Order: sequence, then structure tokens, then C-alpha cells
Amino acid sequence: MSESVTSTEPKISVTGLVKSYGDNEVLKGIDVEIAPGEVVCVIGPSGSGKSTFLRCLNRLEDITGGSVVVDGVDLTDKKVDIDEVRQHIGMVFQHFNLFPHMTALENVMLAPVQTKKSTKEEARENGIRLLGQVGLADKTEARPANLSGGQKQRVAIARALAMNPDVMLFDEATSALDPEMVGEVLQVLRDLAAGGMTMVVVTHEMGFAREVSDRVIFMADGYIVEEGTPEGVFGNPQQPRTQDFLRKVL
Ligand code: ADP
Ligand code: MG
Repeated sequence: MSESVTSTEPKISVTGLVKSYGDNEVLKGIDVEIAPGEVVCVIGPSGSGKSTFLRCLNRLEDITGGSVVVDGVDLTDKKVDIDEVRQHIGMVFQHFNLFPHMTALENVMLAPVQTKKSTKEEARENGIRLLGQVGLADKTEARPANLSGGQKQRVAIARALAMNPDVMLFDEATSALDPEMVGEVLQVLRDLAAGGMTMVVVTHEMGFAREVSDRVIFMADGYIVEEGTPEGVFGNPQQPRTQDFLRKVL
């Protein structure tokens, strides 16, 4: 008897996830498994718990109940070195928070050098490669003040990639951008997805979600109300809440 050699271990496994702030239960029992290389877009109305969910995936929030397991490591386990876990999970926010006194390259080099993951030379070489990958080969020496919003966000993505994560979380990475800069940032996400990165993307860009995701999750009021393929969720939503939301945003 031989066991299957195909690994079906989920990259992220969330079971009964509850998150409360005081009396306010924001996540009311989330169950989801995300496979290696899967691209999951999370959509839903403001205040539905999307950001909180994302932040629980790298324990930027303390989890009230349930479990979050990443690569077999239970993040709720008190013995887990959360800093070590976070090094494998890159996160990109709406606001890029680059260090203004540092060049693009210095911003990208910082974490690998500080955590002693790389020497300065390795971090520089890798940083130049990553800035090239996000289309900023000519901006390595520029400071944030001299970059557009779209360029800053691409530096922030390169900075997250510099730790060589195997999961990337995006929380409305394009929401603060002028419309003409949204496309260049989404293109970087598209390239990452095509390269096999496991991604959880909270987004208002419905066209992007429809085109790039393997799966779409619709959240409302702290629940996953509906999930499925982009064709299913966008083309033939089953739940009234989903139908109502899509009517408003599409
Ligand atoms: P979304 O990202 O879908 O807009 P959030 O996860 O940001 O939703 O917020 C969900 C709910 O949790 C909201 O009611 C919000 O007010 C509340 N919330 C989020 N962060 C905090 C916090 N740090 N303290 C208290 N309440 C919070
Ligand atoms: Mg949010």
C-alpha cells in the first residue's frame, strides 16, 4: 500500500475563528482552508471584518476563539515564535508607511538586514532584483517623497517580498491610490499570482477579483456569507446579502 505523494496540506487553515473587541464580536466563527498557491479575494461591505480576518492570519490581532494554522503551525499556541511565523507572511496595507528618510532600496533592504536574514550585500542585490520585478529598476535611489502613490505601493510590495514570504496578505492595497495608479499595482499582484504565490487579497476591485482569484469569499457581519469560484460568486450569487452587495458595487 502506498500513500498518495500529492500533498494536500492547506497553507492556511482557519477553524471557528472568533475575534471580539470587548463586547463587540467582529468575527463570528470563520472556517476556511487555503491551499498552497491559491489566490483568494475577500470582498464585502465596510465593517464586515475583512481587515480583522486578515490581521488574524498573522496574529497582528490576538485571537478570541478558534484556531489559525499556517504551514502546520498553530498561531494560537503560546509557545510559537510569532516573529518567526510573520517572516513567512508578507503584508501590504492601504497606507504604505515607507521610511521617508530612506531610499526605495534602503526601505526594501531594511527588514532582511535587521532580522539578520541577509547580509547587507545580499539584501542589496535582492532588493535591486525585487524593485526590478515591480517595475522600479530606475527608482532604487529615490526617496518616497519623490515617488507617486503607485510607485510607493510597489516599493511596499517589494519590501514585503524581501523577506521571501510564502504567503502574501493584501488589505485594500489600491484603495488609497489615484485611479490611474491602480492598474500598475494590480499588475504586480497579477504577476505574483501567476508566479504561484499564496495570496489573500481584500479588495474593492471587483474586476480584479473576478479575473485573478481562484476563489472569492464574500464576508458580511463577521461571517463568510458565500464563497466560490469568481464565476459563481459574481455570475450567479446564491445569497441575498451577496446579491445586494454586488448590485451596489458592480
Ligand atoms: P472591514 O475591513 O471589513 O471594513 P474591519 O475588520 O476593519 O472591517 O472592522 C470590523 C469591525 O471591527 C468594525 O465594527 C470595527 O469598528 C471593529 N474594529 C476593528 N478594529 C478594531 C479595534 N482595533 N478596536 C475595536 N474595534 C475594532
Ligand atoms: Mg478593512
